[in-house]
Amino acid sequence: MAYFDVIIIGAGAAGLMCAATAGQRGRSVLLLDHAVKLAEKIRISGGGRCNFTNLQARPECYLSENSHFCRSALSQFSAQDFIRLVERHGIGYHEKTLGQLFCDESSQQIIDMLDGLCREAGVDRRMGVTVGAVERSDRFRVQSSAGVFESASLVVATGGLSIPQIGATGFGYQLAEQFGLALTPRVPALVPLTFHADDAARFAPLAGVSLDATAGCGKTRFRENVLFTHKGLSGPAILQVSSYWTPGQELVLDLLPELDAEAFLAEREGSDQLLANALADAGWPKRFAQAWLDGLGFGGRVKDLPGKRRRQLAETLHHWRVRPNGSQGYKKAEVTRGGISTRDLSSKTMMAKDVPGLFFIGEVVDVTGWLGGYNFQWAWSSGFVAGENC
Ligand code: FAD
Repeated sequence: MAYFDVIIIGAGAAGLMCAATAGQRGRSVLLLDHAVKLAEKIRISGGGRCNFTNLQARPECYLSENSHFCRSALSQFSAQDFIRLVERHGIGYHEKTLGQLFCDESSQQIIDMLDGLCREAGVDRRMGVTVGAVERSDRFRVQSSAGVFESASLVVATGGLSIPQIGATGFGYQLAEQFGLALTPRVPALVPLTFHADDAARFAPLAGVSLDATAGCGKTRFRENVLFTHKGLSGPAILQVSSYWTPGQELVLDLLPELDAEAFLAEREGSDQLLANALADAGWPKRFAQAWLDGLGFGGRVKDLPGKRRRQLAETLHHWRVRPNGSQGYKKAEVTRGGISTRDLSSKTMMAKDVPGLFFIGEVVDVTGWLGGYNFQWAWSSGFVAGENC
């Protein structure tokens, strides 16, 4: 039976970072993954250019039962640390918007960099391996289609449930339960939201249009683009609030965040202009303006709008209330919110408090970042920390 100092299950973002870090410390590392292709989520991320970190990564940009949990890992291995790694490997990058850093060329460069670091560190990486039972006595014993392996440390880096078609499983959660760690509820996050059937029919003509807007859910607000789809709402502002949304809750959208709609319409009082043309002057695509007004029962000319209706329209433009009936689920979600409870993990090492040698890192843990490179930064930071301690 082969022995390693560390076995890591899951060769995605967090697993690769952990393997490279532990290997560089001289630990013998076995990295197992059931997928045949390495790190598919990195490859497809950021539209193929991997939004690999965010310059503003800080605890406030993460959702978790314990909002301070990620602080230690983010400070032990920060966005700047990952940027230095990227620069050392000659990978060109640029800031797209809001601190989001993307590769100039391809996300494959990030995979190659991490894979290269693992090779230099002597990591034994095996793909296409089915992992079976995991037991623990004085060591961990892992059954797999490649044989039975033992180790002093076991790191679980199996990710979340999103995009099952490229290998996402709930295996990490099962292991956590097996070893007595608590789980917080898991739901799709950073995910498009869907309309009720009647809203979907009413607003179908809006599909394909994207607007600068503020989307709010409870006290949380994000100003970015909102995209209207055939099923409901998407775009960065909606993906962001989706992580805060719970079924039954309404979203409040400000569709003209730059303007005082009441004053804008009042200035045009008495005008012959069609309302749709007035909103086109405010920057909306004409087709969108017409369809949105029709959907809400507004129409005609500005001069025909009595003061009360005008105030109603202005109010709706700034506080358009929509109640999604659900999300597009794990097939379309970028991440899973919830996971292994941070209560049962050390924030300094990522080791289970009550199971020496057992570590959980990356998305499988109840730490979920905003859209924009935050989730990879969590994978790098938590992977590094476990790699230093396993
Ligand atoms: P993963 O990278 O998902 O790796 C988990 C690994 O575990 C996989 O290789 C999987 O095959 C393996 N595994 C799972 N179950 C088993 C099992 N039973 N046995 C063996 N192996 C198993 N985040 C960003 O910050 N920036 C982006 O640009 C970005 N774009 C994204 C685009 C898309 C379409 C998606 C879906 C996600 C995106 N994300 C992005 C989120 C980001 O990809 C994840 O948060 C990150 O990959 C999590 O890293 P991880 O190592 O925890 O999990």
